[in-house]
Amino acid sequence: MFGRKQLKQRLIVADRMHLDVEDAPAVAAEVDRLLAMRTRDIRLKGGVKLLFRARIWSQTAKIIRAWMVWVALLDVLTLALNMLMLPTAIAESMLLPAAIIPPVAVVVVFLWRKPQAPWIQGASLIAGMFLILLSVALVGVSAGGEFYERHLNIMLFVAITAVIIFGIPLAWTVTIAAMALGLYLTFQLRNPSIEFGSAVAATLFFASGIFATVVARRIMTILAQKTFLFELRDRRRVAELAKANDRLELLAKTDPLTGIANRRWMTETLDHLWGSDKRCLDGAAMLMCDIDYFKKLNDHLGHAEGDRCLVKVATIIQESVRRDCDQVARYGGEEFLVLLPAVDEEEAISVAERIRKSVEDAGLPNPGSRLSRHVTVSIGVAVQASEEATSPEQLQRQADEALYLAKATGRNRVLLYGPEPTGLKHGTLMTPRRPATR
Ligand code: GH3
Ligand code: MG
Ligand code: MG
Repeated sequence: MFGRKQLKQRLIVADRMHLDVEDAPAVAAEVDRLLAMRTRDIRLKGGVKLLFRARIWSQTAKIIRAWMVWVALLDVLTLALNMLMLPTAIAESMLLPAAIIPPVAVVVVFLWRKPQAPWIQGASLIAGMFLILLSVALVGVSAGGEFYERHLNIMLFVAITAVIIFGIPLAWTVTIAAMALGLYLTFQLRNPSIEFGSAVAATLFFASGIFATVVARRIMTILAQKTFLFELRDRRRVAELAKANDRLELLAKTDPLTGIANRRWMTETLDHLWGSDKRCLDGAAMLMCDIDYFKKLNDHLGHAEGDRCLVKVATIIQESVRRDCDQVARYGGEEFLVLLPAVDEEEAISVAERIRKSVEDAGLPNPGSRLSRHVTVSIGVAVQASEEATSPEQLQRQADEALYLAKATGRNRVLLYGPEPTGLKHGTLMTPRRPATR
């Protein structure tokens, strides 16, 4: 049993085509268990049952409301026709019992407008159906004669249409069918124009028909439930697949050691940026950062310490740039490429200098370095002026060239690419000499 609030929540869940996250593993296991069964043995319970009800609720409610409206309209129309075509006394005798249907239908429609607790829905529908069936039967009973049996048959027909089209729990369907047969038998036994045996025989005859209808309804419900189970399983599989794809994509684009973007991600980002949003490339800069004498660090402290150093340097670089728009990638062994969109030369050099200084200040040991006892980096900077159309490859090459010069002219420095390369060493602008060999 679940309350209105709960049902509403389930409805929201079903509407959004999502499983309740908390229930997901239990629901998934139950769905698999049910789908492994023979179709006829499928019985929904627990969370799956709630989800199914929530899923079909609005459709079922719509059908029930439409059915009620049509029954009420037909009742009024039939009554109006009877008034015109039948003798007044007979038509008037039909008036009172026929008047039951419209208000009953209105109440049921009202109660089925929004999700209610199941017992309210079940009770309102069953009571409403009882009154409607009783009304149809009483119209015939009070008119008498040929109308007596005819209206009992109409009453069964009305019940059968409800049994067939209402996608409600089996117990409710059986109750409606039993009520119709009970009313039929009760009134036929009191029918002055037929005998007891005929009344029972007719009831049994219609009972077999109604039984077949209930069985058909049950099969339809089980098939709808099975379709729903497939839908739940497919949705889960699609979600799992999407998650696995996301993870694979992330793995393919991330450097496993440092957790930052890898070269492939950076290449894709560059292609994307250069291919689409040209505005943010106004004054884009690339910094090629390379750890100085890193091989020596490995040789002196071991590969594991070298790895730890790479992770720390990656973190320092990331913390030195703007998180929302700058991109950092591990470009090679101990090389990091930084993309700074929308900066000028001064800003690019200042970021590069901040990185260089932060690495130096971190005091990471590099006993083999010929420069210092600590880890240092050299950085080549290339900036795309807004009026120039430089490809990402060109900009990279320029940053690489500036890095090459930074290495060649002493390391632990920032160097800006230019026709006449200029750079900063510890904050001082300098013009390094281009060496013949690297
Ligand atoms: P330079 O100052 O000229 O840049 O000298 P360097 O020693 O840093 O440069 P070199 O290119 O000679 O050596 C780079 C070293 O980086 C060689 C390689 O063993 C090491 N390396 C590359 N990838 C990794 C890694 O994932 N982990 C570790 N620990 N070392 C790596
Ligand atoms: Mg190096
Ligand atoms: Mg290198």
